[in-house]
Amino acid sequence: MSLIKTEALVVKASEYSESTRLVTLFSPDHGRVRVLAKGIKRIKSRDRGSLEPFSRVQVSLYLKDPTSLGTLRESALLSAPSALRSDYDRWLLASLVLEVLDRATLPAEDLSGLFERVCAYLEEMETTDRPDEVTVAVLAAMLEGFGFRPEFARCGLCGSAGPFVGFRIDKCSVTCKRCARGHEHFRPLPPGTIKVFEHLAAMGARGRGTLRLSRKQLDQLFSLLVALLQYHLEITLTSARMLAAR
Ligand SMILES: [Zn+2]
Repeated sequence: MSLIKTEALVVKASEYSESTRLVTLFSPDHGRVRVLAKGIKRIKSRDRGSLEPFSRVQVSLYLKDPTSLGTLRESALLSAPSALRSDYDRWLLASLVLEVLDRATLPAEDLSGLFERVCAYLEEMETTDRPDEVTVAVLAAMLEGFGFRPEFARCGLCGSAGPFVGFRIDKCSVTCKRCARGHEHFRPLPPGTIKVFEHLAAMGARGRGTLRLSRKQLDQLFSLLVALLQYHLEITLTSARMLAAR
């Protein structure tokens, strides 16, 4: 059992027993860590809020190994979003991003890069007037953060240089007309949307460029990115279904 001190993002929190909460954290040093926060009722009300999703906290915890359930010793709130928690649409979008962190079992290529990118995203969500666009950008960065770099130059099946008619989810690649035909993992996309996706991906994991997407392009990219993340990380994102039903 070792004592770990780390910064972390609260990804999920639920009742474990009357006085104990089960908290999932995402840390730049240790990735996803699950801890029991005991005696939560004795903790001052100001600190209790620090163990809610979206809070950035400084914690010390006991952990046997990365996959075991740890015990929280101390937690201090570094920052907590307020707009996110009071705006249902923003909350739902950001919940999807946290759900990816919660579900993904693949190791990220650069944990601290992914951590900083998601924290920057949550900050941006406090003030942006384009929450959908900002979310699509962070999902693209996360896909790459987990090691899946979309291919835009060549058809992922035959290697042809285009023209492309959409994306193959399983190949994480653009697809020519011949290879697209009737495949279950094929998603048709207009050339303009493919271009925008390429631009998003090129902005890189840390980049925060400005893009003006149409509502249709946003919807197309959103559903494409959810499908790519679900397929390649082998996860099911339940908040994606809630978002689709908005
Ligand atoms: Zn092809």
